[in-house]
Amino acid sequence: MSRTPLVAGNWKMYKTVAEAERYIQALLPRVASLEGVEIAVCTPFTALQAMVDSTRGTRVGVYAQNMHEAAEGAFTGEVSAPMLVELDVAGVVLGHSERRQLFGEADRAVAQKVLVALQAGLRPILCVGETEEERLAGDTERKLRHQVQEGLEHVPQERLSEVAIAYEPIWAIGTGRVATPEQAQEAASFVRALVGALHKGLDEQVKVLYGGSVNPGNAAELLALADVDGALVGGASLDAESFAAIATAARDGAG
Ligand code: PEP
Repeated sequence: MSRTPLVAGNWKMYKTVAEAERYIQALLPRVASLEGVEIAVCTPFTALQAMVDSTRGTRVGVYAQNMHEAAEGAFTGEVSAPMLVELDVAGVVLGHSERRQLFGEADRAVAQKVLVALQAGLRPILCVGETEEERLAGDTERKLRHQVQEGLEHVPQERLSEVAIAYEPIWAIGTGRVATPEQAQEAASFVRALVGALHKGLDEQVKVLYGGSVNPGNAAELLALADVDGALVGGASLDAESFAAIATAARDGAG
């Protein structure tokens, strides 16, 4: 079955509101006629409202990069699903390796967040991936199995396909060391099979993205892979022209 690819730009902690406005005005005309691909920008919290307003009626969706699993509470510095929904945000990146490694985000919290996001009407992008040490030790599949099974643990079976899963080898994030097409395909197909084991048939529907040093030069090859349904793009998404080129490669590689 053909799955509509999703290309999501993870801005991380880049772009003030003024910079985001300039960027989106450069991006929108470049993707206005790109059919057959979903495009999202995952912006800092501070730029969400401005980007939702500036992209209304366009083919660009706006995602957050994280959220807390509780609806409200004494959690200084955090933002909840209802707060994102109020802004009309479409989805949220969950369990990014930078959140897990730098901010101690635990698998258990990520699993809770995935469920809460879905219940609130936000589309989650669940990030999974192995470290270089784990890959060298032959532990990639064990790590992916653990993160996928735990991340999807609370999701009702019939909603599993609403979670996009981003396979992001940690050694490829922000390093310029992209996975080979063989590595990306093998891992994406393994992730898809894990979803199939949770609910037969949904593996064909779930979107599996690749993330890790995707750029306009390598996107076409990665996005043409049978089990790769799009990309989560960090650095190369910060420039509107290169992000639009990656989205175009996803459209061309679909099917
Ligand atoms: C990311 O932030 O998820 C990412 C993949 O970053 P980069 O594209 O810069 O490697």
